[in-house]
Amino acid sequence: MSQSNSDDISAVLDGYRVVCYPDPVLGRKAKPIEEIDDEVRRRAAEMIEIMHETRGVGLAGPQAGWSARIVTLNTTGEPDGDAVFINPEITSSAGEETDEEGCLSLPGIQAKISRAAQVEVRAYDLDGQEVNIKTDGLLARAWQHETDHLDGVLILDRMSPAARLVNRRRLKELEAAHKERG
Ligand code: ZN
Repeated sequence: MSQSNSDDISAVLDGYRVVCYPDPVLGRKAKPIEEIDDEVRRRAAEMIEIMHETRGVGLAGPQAGWSARIVTLNTTGEPDGDAVFINPEITSSAGEETDEEGCLSLPGIQAKISRAAQVEVRAYDLDGQEVNIKTDGLLARAWQHETDHLDGVLILDRMSPAARLVNRRRLKELEAAHKERG
C-alpha cells in the first residue's frame, strides 16, 4: 500500500520496479510458499528494497512479479520496522472504517475504501515460525490491502463507480503505458 502521489506517468514508471496495473500477474491468485529456501529469502530482500525505493507501507509478491503468498510490511514506520510474512491469512476482523487508500501498482490513484477496523493475522516469518498479529488503524488497512493482492484483488475492484470515474484518466494512462512496454 502507498501513501501516494500524482506525478507525470512516464516519470513515475521510469525505472519503477513495482509491477503496475494492468499487468495480469496482479489479477492472479498467488500460490502458497511450501518451503522457505534461498530463493524465498532472496526475493524477500528484493521486495524490502523495492518497498524502500518507493516509500511504500507494504508490498505483496505479485507486485514484485512473483505470484507467491508473501508480504513485506513496515510495521513501525521506522527503518528497522521491515518484516517479511509468509502465507499470511486474516483469521478474524471487526468493525468498519472508510479511508483514502493508494496502491504502488496504481501510481497516482487514490480512492476511499471501506475496510475492517481491526484484523487478526496468522503468518510465518522467514525462520518458519508462526506469528500472530492483532492490529488496527493504518496497519489493519495495509494487511487487508496486501492480502487482497495475494488473491488478485486491487483497490480498483473495491472502489465505487464514482471513484473509478474520477481516476479514469490515470487508469487509461497506465493501460497505454503497459501496452507500450509490451
Ligand atoms: Zn497495492
